[in-house]
Amino acid sequence: MDITTKKWETMFTEEEIASRIKELGKQIEKDYKDKNLMVVALLRGSFIFCADLVRSIDLPLRVNFMTTSSYGNSEESSGSVKVSSDVTVDIEGYDVLVVDDITDTATTMDFVLKYLKGKNPKSIKSCVLLDKPSRRKVELEADYVGFEVEDKFVVGYGFDCGDYFRNVPYIFNVTDEDR
Ligand code: 5GP
Ligand code: MG
Repeated sequence: MDITTKKWETMFTEEEIASRIKELGKQIEKDYKDKNLMVVALLRGSFIFCADLVRSIDLPLRVNFMTTSSYGNSEESSGSVKVSSDVTVDIEGYDVLVVDDITDTATTMDFVLKYLKGKNPKSIKSCVLLDKPSRRKVELEADYVGFEVEDKFVVGYGFDCGDYFRNVPYIFNVTDEDR
């Protein structure tokens, strides 16, 4: 589908996203005040969210990245996740916060939390910008959630459609209507 010919419906504006991320940052700042925070962001979907989130946390912290891939369609988790690029530092003893774009089926977050626990962090929590609870296959709630959304395919602000549109500064949904 060529989404440029379809009508876009804004779900979250730049301002709404920025203001919610400030709140999340303040909460994380409070919770991690005397901890040893290591943010592990999952590429590529969370790169924009993570960049804004870490700048709203006024604490000393380290940032590292991981890439996972799921077999099959990239827009839907098939249930089988693998690590395609791992963290590049030792996370043992750190208070790790895994940052991703969304918990949809939650297969990815479930896998990553279990995988990273094997590296003996002091603690591990998760933070996602969006949560689609209606789509769960694994019972898991992220510790920090930006917004809950209904079962719609979202694009923009890191979310892609065919690897494009990640740079759109707001989050939108594509409707069936032509522009
Ligand atoms: P999971 O199903 O494992 O929770 O999420 C797997 C991945 O599917 C997410 O990290 C995200 O990349 C992708 N995904 C899930 N829902 C959407 C959506 O509405 N839009 C886009 N662009 N990607 C999504
Ligand atoms: Mg992803």
